[in-house]
Amino acid sequence: MNDLLPEDSPRWQFFEARIRDLMARYGFAEIRTPILEQTALFARSIGEVTDIVEKEMYTFDDRNGDSLTLRPEGTASCVRAAMQHGLLHNQTQRLWYQGPMFRHERPQKGRYRQFHQIGVETYGLEGPDIDAEVILLSARLWQELGLADHVTLELNSLGSAEARAAYREMLVAYFEQHLEVLDEDSRRRLTTNPLRILDSKNPAMAEVIAGAPRLIDHLDEASREHFERLKAMLDAVGIGYVINPRLVRGLDYYSRTVFEWTTDALGSQGTVCAGGRYDGLVEQLGGKPTPAVGFAMGIERLILLLDTLALIPGAALGGCDAYLVPMDDAATPEALALAERLRTALPDLNLTLHCGGGSFKSRMKKADKSGAPLAILLGEDERAGQAVTLKFLRDDREQRRVAQSELAPALASLLGNTRDGS
Ligand code: ATP
Ligand code: MG
Repeated sequence: MNDLLPEDSPRWQFFEARIRDLMARYGFAEIRTPILEQTALFARSIGEVTDIVEKEMYTFDDRNGDSLTLRPEGTASCVRAAMQHGLLHNQTQRLWYQGPMFRHERPQKGRYRQFHQIGVETYGLEGPDIDAEVILLSARLWQELGLADHVTLELNSLGSAEARAAYREMLVAYFEQHLEVLDEDSRRRLTTNPLRILDSKNPAMAEVIAGAPRLIDHLDEASREHFERLKAMLDAVGIGYVINPRLVRGLDYYSRTVFEWTTDALGSQGTVCAGGRYDGLVEQLGGKPTPAVGFAMGIERLILLLDTLALIPGAALGGCDAYLVPMDDAATPEALALAERLRTALPDLNLTLHCGGGSFKSRMKKADKSGAPLAILLGEDERAGQAVTLKFLRDDREQRRVAQSELAPALASLLGNTRDGS
């Protein structure tokens, strides 16, 4: 679990601001749910024999003896909340969420025990148009972040529950002929969740997995048609994709469309966004049958990717524009008032007021450390003349005196210039 330090947070704010804007532009409304749920909710939705439920959840009994779990993902909570508040009765929903998720995994680069996801979930829409729409939303995000050339859309269909059951038998029969190649996990999954074997990252099994029968060749007619129509829609908008018949996703609730956006730039943690259709989940959790499709993306991995590719604009990283220094303690009240006037006049100005006294030298050291390009000095002379001295901290320019009444426009033009130049 990570602390997010002041030097990191501008990147997160940049990313989160983009997301908020994008969701509004696509007509998605935010939902916020508690980070704790009843354990049974996750066991029933994600699936008993998944990595998450078998070995990754943070589960504990509360004071009443109820078993609670820190959410490992957002979809189950979203379905629970939507059902509980009647959001699924004769209406459609387009929702998004963001927040921390918890999984007790082996920590490594791009993989944490508390990580953050942004997800979208839609309810009540069964056609492939909404599948295309959520994929297009994610594609636009990559484009606007400058990531479009660094990610690939992988697409598959898991068909209906019936088609999957028939395929499952075929798959078990195939893997039983190759038992000697299967690792321990996969042998166990042969009886519990054989589709997940296809998802194994064990290189020793790669060949046998590649030779396995493909679900996509055994889809039911309705799912096949849904998939064909989705592909035609993506083709019509010009969104490229590759069909990956081994893409099964690690959670049990998916049906029909599944997709992942992957990148080569992050080593083995290559999936930055993943989702699909889960038409059976609402009913499975006690609601009326409700078609649903959504995805989740991992914020840490995306920010790592943006950093790796140096795609976060310098201006978005913010920072201090000006550091206002009362040159002695007597100047402090006037400096406070001046700072307030500047903040009113220039709402975009990031102004830090020197607090904490100290010698003139130590005040100027703090000014330098603030990273600001400009120090505004207010000493005895300046006060007598209703002025300030502007000192340029980053470039070789003569300091100059400016009347306090002229300060706001002077700052606006000076900072406008440095911002354009950076
Ligand atoms: P992986 O195959 O990498 O374990 P997953 O299938 O478990 O991913 P999902 O549950 O689909 O992942 O979550 C969607 C996204 O959330 C992932 O693509 C990834 O970007 C991010 N994510 C998942 N687990 C973690 C983690 N432990 N730390 C950081 N990000 C994560
Ligand atoms: Mg995982």
